[in-house]
This record gives sequence, structure tokens and C-alpha cells, in this order.
Amino acid sequence: MADEPDLIPGIYIYCDRWCDRCAFTSRCLQFRIEAEERDSGDALPDFDALNVQFWHEMGEALLKTVRLIREIAIQEGIDPDDLQHEPASSEPSESLLRDAREHPCAHAALLYVGMVNDWFPVVDEGSDAEEESSPTHASRSLEEPMQVIRYYQYFIYPKIVRAVEGRLSQQVSVHAQSDTDACGTAKVALIAIDRSLAAWSLMYEEFPLHQDRIISILLHLDRLRRAVEVIFPEARAFIRPGLDG
Ligand code: SF4
Repeated sequence: MADEPDLIPGIYIYCDRWCDRCAFTSRCLQFRIEAEERDSGDALPDFDALNVQFWHEMGEALLKTVRLIREIAIQEGIDPDDLQHEPASSEPSESLLRDAREHPCAHAALLYVGMVNDWFPVVDEGSDAEEESSPTHASRSLEEPMQVIRYYQYFIYPKIVRAVEGRLSQQVSVHAQSDTDACGTAKVALIAIDRSLAAWSLMYEEFPLHQDRIISILLHLDRLRRAVEVIFPEARAFIRPGLDG
């Protein structure tokens, strides 16, 4: 099966393992093997095309999110240009000496998990009142952005820990391979953060009564994104097999 020409070698190494939302199920060996194990049939090209459209829309939402974060920064009295610079506490020279789980980015990713867990019950409690007060509420499907938030909520932390571990081991062993893997893993974490940001910006529009909490989450995630970019400046340029053209 691995020799089939349509399959993309290694596409599953730096993907997010969200096969239900993947646009490459028909070209992924990992998916084929798991589908056979589940006896649930083969990949579905139509399903892949739908997912291409889904991620295209999320990509457009991300562009709006960047503008939204800038506007929020201005409203909050933060110089938007300061958002381009990560605090010294996340500079590699200081933080790479620590265990990966103690790294500020790992802490920030864990904090984000808690922020999401805190947010949903509060919104559930207030949803009845908000439905009455918000003309925009329920006017669009929130199911998809919620799916994105929930899927990546627990995904970002382990990816960041693994990326930092790879960078740490590269520092001591000078094996280029571990650093390459660290960059690929950091890129997957960045994509998960990007998509989560886009999803939160859609939530921001739909929950006017909870915008303050969403602003905190957006700013927190945006800081985390910039910190990861500082530590792994090569990550965005990393080419993942089949996923980055
Ligand atoms: S590349 Fe897509 S189909 Fe394959 S394992 Fe990753 S998410 Fe699943």
C-alpha cells in the first residue's frame, strides 16, 4: 500500500491528526491503515474537498483576527507595535536552560487550557440571557469554531513541550535531526494557535456579552504565538511533507 503513487510520503508526521477535518485523507497512508483497522472504508475525496473549503474559510478568519487583535490592542492602550516584540523572559538564551515543561511557553499553553475550560461553563450559564440581548447570537453556526477550539485546546501544550525538548536536546547533542523535528513540531503548534485564534475571533463576534473574556484569550494566545515564533524563528518556513507547498 505504501508504494501507491497517490500517497504522500510522511504527510502524517507533522499533521495535527485531525483526520475528520483533513483534506488529504485519500493521500495518507496513516489514514488508510487506521481506516482498515476500523473497517470503516476508504478515504473520501469529496470529504477532503469539503475540508479544503473549511480551512480556506478559517484562513480568511485568521486574516481578520490579526486586524482584530490590533484594534483590541489600541482599545486596551497597548501599542500594537509592541505586540511584535516578545518579552525577554521568553528569549532562548534564558529559557532553553530549563526543562521543557517549565518553559514559559509550556506554562502559557497550559494556562490557555484552563482559560478555555473556564470560558465554556460561564457562557453556557449566561447563554439564555445573551440570546435575548444579542441580535447576532445564534445567527451563525458556532459549532465549527467551537470544534476548532476544543480540538486544539489540549493539542498545543504537548506540541510546544516536544518542540522545546527537541531544541534542548539539540543544544546538548548537536544532532541536527532533533532540531529539525523541533521546528516541524513548533510549526504544527503555531498552526494550531493560528486556527484557535481564528475560531476565537468568530466567537468574539457572536458573544458580545463575553467579549472581555475573549479579548483576554485572544491576547494570551497571540502572545504565545509570538513567543513560539521568537524561540523557533525557522518554524514558519519549515516545509511539512504534502501539507506545505
Ligand atoms: S495527514 Fe490527515 S489523514 Fe493523515 S493522519 Fe494526518 S490528519 Fe489524518
